[in-house]
Amino acid sequence: MGLVNDLLDDGMGALTHNVITSRLEELVNWARSRSSWPANFGLACCAIEMMATGGAHYDLSRFGMEVFRASPRQADIMIVAGRVSQKMAPVLRQVYDQMMEPKWVISMGVCASSGGMFNNYAVVQGVDQIVPVDVYAPGCPPTPETLLHAIETLHGLIETGELLRRRAESGAGADVHVREVASTGPVPILLGGR
Ligand code: SF4
Repeated sequence: MGLVNDLLDDGMGALTHNVITSRLEELVNWARSRSSWPANFGLACCAIEMMATGGAHYDLSRFGMEVFRASPRQADIMIVAGRVSQKMAPVLRQVYDQMMEPKWVISMGVCASSGGMFNNYAVVQGVDQIVPVDVYAPGCPPTPETLLHAIETLHGLIETGELLRRRAESGAGADVHVREVASTGPVPILLGGR
């Protein structure tokens, strides 16, 4: 009963590590990394590339992620695609707060990551001021290949459990910067083993 109550109160974090529970944790992390759903949060031109990533050519559905959730309660990855205005910042934070734990954030493009060329009072100079960012996808805009690279990187971090440990320790995101991937034209894009 003690173990059950601990799990109900604190989730996987309540388990002390041993052979059985570490295997269970691995299984849960494996399942999480393969069942993530993105929240619908396109803000500017980067969102067009995000939409392209969901199309037939780049095929986000190979990760089960092709349907961007309109309700934050059904999503666990927020892809911030485009510049964040000061007016939109509290809305973004509210949507993030409404997402279920565990949840993760990808900052897509230089505008979301740093304000980009919009160095002015109207644009937030980095979405990490509003939510903890786990993976940064560079570019203006990042190509669909770069976004897929960021998503695969995030899935890898979820699978190892590294992200949850960091979140528990510091409350911050993983702060991983992926490299930019150039578009290679109309050829099939095969990333990773899945
Ligand atoms: S990074 Fe470039 S493409 Fe993306 S929102 Fe900013 S200006 Fe638009």
